[in-house]
Amino acid sequence: MIPVKNKQINATTYDVLVTLKDFIRSRDNKDLFHDMRDVGTNTMVTCPFHKEGKERKPSLGVSNEPDDGKIWVHCFTCGYKGTIDTMISNILGYKDDGYEGYNWLIQNFDLSYNRNLNLRVGNRDAIEKPEQTYVSEELLKQYRYYHPYMYQRGLTNEIIERYDIGYDAVTNCITFPVRDIDGKCLFLARRSVIGKMFMLPPDKNKPLYGVYELDYNKPDIYICESFFNALTLAKWGYNAIALMGTGSAYQYGLINQLPFRTMYLCLDGDTAGRLGAMRLCNNISSNKIVYEYLMPDGKDVNDLTLDEFTAISYKLRD
Ligand SMILES: [Zn+2]
Repeated sequence: MIPVKNKQINATTYDVLVTLKDFIRSRDNKDLFHDMRDVGTNTMVTCPFHKEGKERKPSLGVSNEPDDGKIWVHCFTCGYKGTIDTMISNILGYKDDGYEGYNWLIQNFDLSYNRNLNLRVGNRDAIEKPEQTYVSEELLKQYRYYHPYMYQRGLTNEIIERYDIGYDAVTNCITFPVRDIDGKCLFLARRSVIGKMFMLPPDKNKPLYGVYELDYNKPDIYICESFFNALTLAKWGYNAIALMGTGSAYQYGLINQLPFRTMYLCLDGDTAGRLGAMRLCNNISSNKIVYEYLMPDGKDVNDLTLDEFTAISYKLRD
């Protein structure tokens, strides 16, 4: 049992490292921890943080038993120091104090992931959620105005109504209520009419935009990056959600809980978008059928007409 934040994960340090090694191999085709030994108090692995992970003898120690409630990591060669969740975050490519690392640990426990993992969270019910507050209906009502910018961006009245898109005259912003699957408004995203600024609350747990507005009778879903991309796809009659970015571990978890069997990835045709699509391919559970649109270089859904979009080929994930 190892502690991570306030949870217990029913696995040994060695289990976690082996799982991480397999994960990185399948995701990045990279050999992590090529030498790994349990030496009693610690598991010693080759350090991924210096010599490009190619040191010959393991000098990164990960404690097997918690000390002060944490599993500590320390490299005796380069001096890397942290806890197991921050180490996982850093290996996954994040500098976020272990946020994604922690999510990765929780995700790999999720049974909808079909990877034969042996991580277990001690008591799922004990996972405390931060207190969720919702945007009131009264506030949303105040923004129910049309603005010419909505039409400039190709929105139709039907879409504006369905997604409850509004206009806030005080900040001169278009407002997008981001709702949870039950329709409760988690927050309002704002898009300035003059600048290009998109304003999201500083919460790291970005949800999925558009889950409430989906047609759950359809068999499939389209996943894209931005609000406008999702709205354009919706206008064309597709079931679409936006990641408001290129996707996070938290969002992979949410996507895997959606009841759609077929998922089409339409992220932007740039490096970030392609990387995001690759991560989605690796993280959407194997019981889903996932296709990746081969978006033209430098284009996103909004740069295309419906005809151009339907002409784009897509490939089944590997
Ligand atoms: Zn090192």
